[in-house]
Amino acid sequence: MSGELLYDGVRPDNPHLSNLSKIEFVITYACTGRCIHCSEGDHPAGGANIDADIAADAVRKIAGAYPIKTVMTFGGEPLLHADTVCKIHAAAREMGVPRRQIITNGYFSKVPACITETAAALAAAGVNHILLSVDAFHQATIPLDIVRCFAKAVTAQDIVLRLQPAWLVNAADDNPYNNRTRQILAGFSDMDIPVGDGNIIFPSGNAKRYLSEYFGDSVPENPYIEDPYDVRCVSFDPDGGVLDGNVHRQDVMDILANYRPIR
Ligand code: SF4
Repeated sequence: MSGELLYDGVRPDNPHLSNLSKIEFVITYACTGRCIHCSEGDHPAGGANIDADIAADAVRKIAGAYPIKTVMTFGGEPLLHADTVCKIHAAAREMGVPRRQIITNGYFSKVPACITETAAALAAAGVNHILLSVDAFHQATIPLDIVRCFAKAVTAQDIVLRLQPAWLVNAADDNPYNNRTRQILAGFSDMDIPVGDGNIIFPSGNAKRYLSEYFGDSVPENPYIEDPYDVRCVSFDPDGGVLDGNVHRQDVMDILANYRPIR
């Protein structure tokens, strides 16, 4: 379901946020993968997780003041905390946010019944778009049969699903990782899942450590860097950090009102 945006135009007087249209949550840095291209580096088990009710409340407040088009959850592996993901997207649906999206590696359980149940819970919460990370890097440590099980469960729920490979250098480059990724994608041909553009790996975290030989003169830029003077996406960290504040300790609208770019 995607209704009308329910924002009423009452928003903090902050010119640096006047084009805000997206909310992101890094649900957790914990992950079931150990990818050598991961821009975040290593993923220690445990660590902070954003409070589900506070996160959902932040969605309602921000989407009540700004025309938010997308709420996205990712990680780490966000579905290690599927209940939190569901609460966030249910709040987004309640506020009429049209795109309610998850990026996942599809590996949060080995139990088919649990995978099916989680896919149903995501659909019930209003998740309507899933980007599934599949490529040579993810499948070095993440079992493909379980990812396929998740893909089938999601497809059965009529959630839009896209395969989202990471490419090294560019999608056309002939290197062992890209070639393996093409093989893995071909292994999904029986499921008829569209393949998205994916993303080009940039030198950060593990990628900088393990794949530096592939970054020559034209180094790909980090596509996730925001202009601090024109913030279009507010991103929450697992510990509740957002902009200059923390939603576990402050009201999110006060954080937005008081945000100033660092000169
Ligand atoms: S790239 Fe994604 S799946 Fe792989 S370790 Fe990093 S967060 Fe986990």
